[in-house]
Amino acid sequence: MERRLRELDWLDQTYGMGTYAPAPPRKPSRASGVVALIVLGAVTTSAVFAMQPGIFPDRVHELLGTSPERLLPARDIPTGPGEFSFMATQPDSDEPVGYNPCQVIEVAVNPEGAPDDHQELVETAMARTSDATGLQFELVGTTQDRDFENMSMDDPVLVMWSDETEAPDLAGDIAGVGGSYRVSPFGGGRERYVTGFVILDVEAYDRMRSGAIRQAVVDHEFGHLVGLGHVEDPRQLMHERGGFTTEYGDGDLTGLAELGAIEC
Ligand SMILES: [Zn+2]
Repeated sequence: MERRLRELDWLDQTYGMGTYAPAPPRKPSRASGVVALIVLGAVTTSAVFAMQPGIFPDRVHELLGTSPERLLPARDIPTGPGEFSFMATQPDSDEPVGYNPCQVIEVAVNPEGAPDDHQELVETAMARTSDATGLQFELVGTTQDRDFENMSMDDPVLVMWSDETEAPDLAGDIAGVGGSYRVSPFGGGRERYVTGFVILDVEAYDRMRSGAIRQAVVDHEFGHLVGLGHVEDPRQLMHERGGFTTEYGDGDLTGLAELGAIEC
């Protein structure tokens, strides 16, 4: 499928929104949580595909006259005091940009440089994020692809372990990055994510011993993948440095349920 990538709208919530630029030196925060005591911090990125007219997935259903159906039920939106935020909202409303709940989110892992437990880490993150969103993931296998900056909209989500040479966002104490590409239909309409990437830092995984924290970093990045942004609330896993928790908190779960409840 022909596609062009406009590399714009790199959203970097750690260093402020703007163009994609080398991260300035940054001292690790001392007021950070369990995960941060070991490593962590995560940069979030997202970019936009410029679409060819006529290939936006929603249009296919319109043309075929079929109505799409959810693959899994939407989750009840929990109520709790915890904070959450979205990576992006629709241009004309507060509705979050998310993945289509009527389509499987395919995931492929590049095992090069990955720790021995990589498959379990990824499968657990997929299961937890699916439970919280009602989005369906499928691990489609391994890949040799590493080009996270030039993905096609029908590529599976790319999960890989890397370093700052290949992925400059991993510089410093950053343990992972995650984000998704969104399609923006010509002539208006709902934007949605179509694929994305989760990149974990090889060195950080060499150092991390706690299984709960190793998992929490992947889970945090899957939160970004499906559309959650950072929050200041340290009780949430989507705190910039993972907060004081190693599991999705009440705010995280509310945001994830909303992301999974958007229309097909
Ligand atoms: Zn993050």
